[in-house]
Amino acid sequence: MNPGSRRYHIITFGCQMNKADSERMAGVLEDMGFVWTETPDQAQLVLYNTCTIRDNAEQKVYSYLGRQAKRKQTEPDLTLVVAGCVAQQEGDALLRRVPELDLVLGPQHANRLQDLLEQVAAGQQIVATEQIQIVEDITKPRRDSQVTAWVNVIYGCNERCTYCVVPNVRGVEQSRSPEVIREEMVRLGEQGYKEITLLGQNIDAYGRDLPGVTAGGRYEHTLTDLLYFVHDVPGIERIRFATSHPRYFTERLIHACAELPKVCEHFHIPFQSGDDELLKAMARGYTQAKYRRIIDKIRDRMPDASITADAIVGFPGETEAQFAQTLKLVEDIEFDQLNTAAYSPRPGTPAASWDNQLSETVKADRLQRLNHLANQGAAARSQRYAHRIEEILVEDQNPKDPTQVMGRTRGNRLTFFASDIHHLRGQTIPVKITEVRPFSLTGEPLDAKKGLNW
Ligand code: SF4
Repeated sequence: MNPGSRRYHIITFGCQMNKADSERMAGVLEDMGFVWTETPDQAQLVLYNTCTIRDNAEQKVYSYLGRQAKRKQTEPDLTLVVAGCVAQQEGDALLRRVPELDLVLGPQHANRLQDLLEQVAAGQQIVATEQIQIVEDITKPRRDSQVTAWVNVIYGCNERCTYCVVPNVRGVEQSRSPEVIREEMVRLGEQGYKEITLLGQNIDAYGRDLPGVTAGGRYEHTLTDLLYFVHDVPGIERIRFATSHPRYFTERLIHACAELPKVCEHFHIPFQSGDDELLKAMARGYTQAKYRRIIDKIRDRMPDASITADAIVGFPGETEAQFAQTLKLVEDIEFDQLNTAAYSPRPGTPAASWDNQLSETVKADRLQRLNHLANQGAAARSQRYAHRIEEILVEDQNPKDPTQVMGRTRGNRLTFFASDIHHLRGQTIPVKITEVRPFSLTGEPLDAKKGLNW
């Protein structure tokens, strides 16, 4: 295939893992000579990187696909690709539903995009969803940011949370070795990146599948060991990681985060429900009391740490009293941000077949009440930034106001201030916070010469 002047467009749905996969697939396409276009209808290759975490995410894909499938009837050279979790979940069924598709590839096959497209160019229609050992990542991702980068450390998940489709669509845990992770970070440091987010569906499981157990019976490779191993990578100023699991969250990790200066004091630890009976039904493997202890220990060592989480309302059988436990936990902990969702039955998950499903009305009511409380908590937490001097790593121009730049605190709070991005991209600037909103801040750069005069 001679892509030559062929243009491509990728539409990404879902989580950070999908965003990182899309950056890598874009890198593969550019290596093949494709050129990015902002407009899907001008692209000769359109790729949807899909999410199936909830039904509405899945349905969105089909509405988009329909349009391009119609286009293909008049433009037979158009290449249509569906990647990600819906591709993995549906496989051949997707080809039956949208016969215009050329390629359906699961998340584990993202690094094989070139090889699969070459088979398409040879006239085949390809479905690549078999479970494989993920090919180590040699691509040069086309990253959205010039300052911050995602680095996958573990793919897949071995947990069996009864509502979650991830293990079915992303497969078993596959950790990358500490050496290749460090090598990728060294390359990023050389390219001028300043912040790395280490990624995993259940990042606390990092290393469990790698060889090596210490004399004390502890896994030789853990997230904590990895943080120490990559902490001195030149050029990298900030390290973050997501997503944590309360079941495996250790005091060793808290100690490391408090001790290692580059590791930002921001923890994303989904709790899902505040009720122990529900946590058991979800097969989460911890109690609300254990969850509270983790947060207390973090705040003991890092009082200013940002805590964010995910919560589900309307899980099958959830009573008003059990929901009240979730509200109580949210009220007591006051999260910097809470991602909330109404339970959505997913194909192939245990809870989807249970007969104690709740109505959409009850779910919508509980979601609205939880969001109200969570926003109050976020607003209260944001107040601590008022009039403080915060170190802001400048990432980009404010898309809504070109006279401003934007970046984030170590606590991951988005912050805006007046300045010129060309002078400040990638720099960490002391900023006096002058305005506080529930999920973002505005300030003034302390060093006026640095901030305003340019
Ligand atoms: S830990 Fe549970 S919720 Fe998270 S990806 Fe794994 S199965 Fe899903």
